[in-house]
Amino acid sequence: MLDPGHNLNNSSSINQTVYAGNGVYKACDTTGTSTNAGYPEHAFTFDVATRAAALLRAEGATVVMTRPNDSGIGPCITTRAQIGNDAHANAFIAIHADGGPADGHGFFVMQPPLNNPNINVPASAQSRALATDMHDTFHASTGMPYSTYIANGYYPDDGVTGTINLSHGPVITIECLNMRNASDAGIATDPAWRQRIAAGIVAGLTTFLTA
Ligand code: ZN
Repeated sequence: MLDPGHNLNNSSSINQTVYAGNGVYKACDTTGTSTNAGYPEHAFTFDVATRAAALLRAEGATVVMTRPNDSGIGPCITTRAQIGNDAHANAFIAIHADGGPADGHGFFVMQPPLNNPNINVPASAQSRALATDMHDTFHASTGMPYSTYIANGYYPDDGVTGTINLSHGPVITIECLNMRNASDAGIATDPAWRQRIAAGIVAGLTTFLTA
């Protein structure tokens, strides 16, 4: 399951409040962040996911994406999780790019907390294995550094991410780079780099699925 984060358009439906699990209420979705020059996160995530899907299908994987295009309004985070649950996904990868501090760069992963009864309990340990595999393999495959502003490249387990809270199987988010950083923005807008990032995600997923 590949979830290209965000969507193109804003609207009242996308701003509606939804229950994101673990006692958290938040917007259905957003249009995400962008580089300072205006290259949007939703375009980055959709392109990377499309490239990763092609690579995975070439390896024989069955791939479902949470949105079929990068136009219009995408599904709410609740629906994205439900699509993965309905597909009984072996792994759910939410693909994002961060809007972090301008002087910070690199990637990080987000995973569900262990032993939180409101989150995805059966799959928490598997999700953490997926997070570790992605963290280590994506780094080795792409050469992307761990985030300079998120300690060790693992986001603190605070249980605020809807797709993570609501998924029933192994689930992580990868924030592939920082759109607000000049050098990472150069990576985001380079198709060859986006292919490398897609291949890195596939490598991390392959490590997990073949372990
Ligand atoms: Zn995002």
